Amino acid sequence: MFHVILGVCLALSPDQCGTILLPRGDSPTQQACRAGADRLAADWLEDRPDLVGGAIACRANADLPAAALQEIAPGIHVHFGTSQQMEETPDGRIANLGVIVGRDGVAVIDAGVSRAEGQALHVAIRRLTDRPVTHLILTHMHPDHVLGAQVMVEAGATVTAHHALPQALQMRADSYLDLIARLYPPAEWIGTQVVMPDSLVQDRATIDLGDRRLQLRAWPPAHTDSDLTVLDEATGTLFTGDLLFRDLTPVVDGSLRGWLAWMDSDPAAGARLIVPGHGPVSESWAPAAAPQQTFLKALADRTRQAIGDGLALSAAVPVIANALQPLQNSWNSYPETVARNATAAYKELEWE
Ligand SMILES: [Zn+2]
Repeated sequence: MFHVILGVCLALSPDQCGTILLPRGDSPTQQACRAGADRLAADWLEDRPDLVGGAIACRANADLPAAALQEIAPGIHVHFGTSQQMEETPDGRIANLGVIVGRDGVAVIDAGVSRAEGQALHVAIRRLTDRPVTHLILTHMHPDHVLGAQVMVEAGATVTAHHALPQALQMRADSYLDLIARLYPPAEWIGTQVVMPDSLVQDRATIDLGDRRLQLRAWPPAHTDSDLTVLDEATGTLFTGDLLFRDLTPVVDGSLRGWLAWMDSDPAAGARLIVPGHGPVSESWAPAAAPQQTFLKALADRTRQAIGDGLALSAAVPVIANALQPLQNSWNSYPETVARNATAAYKELEWE
């Protein structure tokens, strides 16, 4: 397999450059790749007036950087992100990403933080199989999960997400793009675009890959207001997205009460393998979920106490953070997120 690789720089800052992989140019031979490369690159650049094209090359799959994938069950591959907050990493590649290979096509679960991460995932998928990438499922709106989506769209995928995702992502699109441009070198974020889904899940939906089916479920506000889970029926593998954090400190960006209610609702019933949005896979729900449950309950309890004591938000946040101190050694990136969580919890619970 050969891939078309296009050098690009920002039109307004020609020293900020990177490389773009164009999935439509994937070809079995170098010659076939070359034959279509110039036309493909010109067409792609036509839609990107913010970029200036440079060298066009056809590179062998084996020579390109690929995301590391682990097969955790038959046909289920996971890329494990670094369990830290985006700000603490050189590239923001912190989310777990899934690849499910079926007879009729490949479903990808989340696409990473940037075009570069999406491209690395695409290269890794092409090392596994030649089957078409037919579906990209977004588990929620956060940048570490969605910003690589355009690569999968160009590879042919239909994008499916929670019915609330388009509005949530539209509101945040510019700030997400600004964030990765501020945090990382141009080679990581150049060419990154926000993609809106083609297909929305109201409550439940099924994706048929021929020899296996995926059950999608859209949940009420919890981690965010656009949380979606994916269950592979064939292996009982449940992708929770960020409804489950392991190792990395959970972040409340939807509803703390909703999230606690979700955890109490036995959401992993029937699952034999659980893939969280961040952290390692687990074969059983209870031990995987217990630390997050303890954390969220403590956050709610301490926040209610501060509100009950009559503290204003600014006074309450350090008090809540201090009260949660005993939990901090259990979680990565705890100091970076505790104030944000206390603020979100206060704003929600003060209306109880
Ligand atoms: Zn998230």
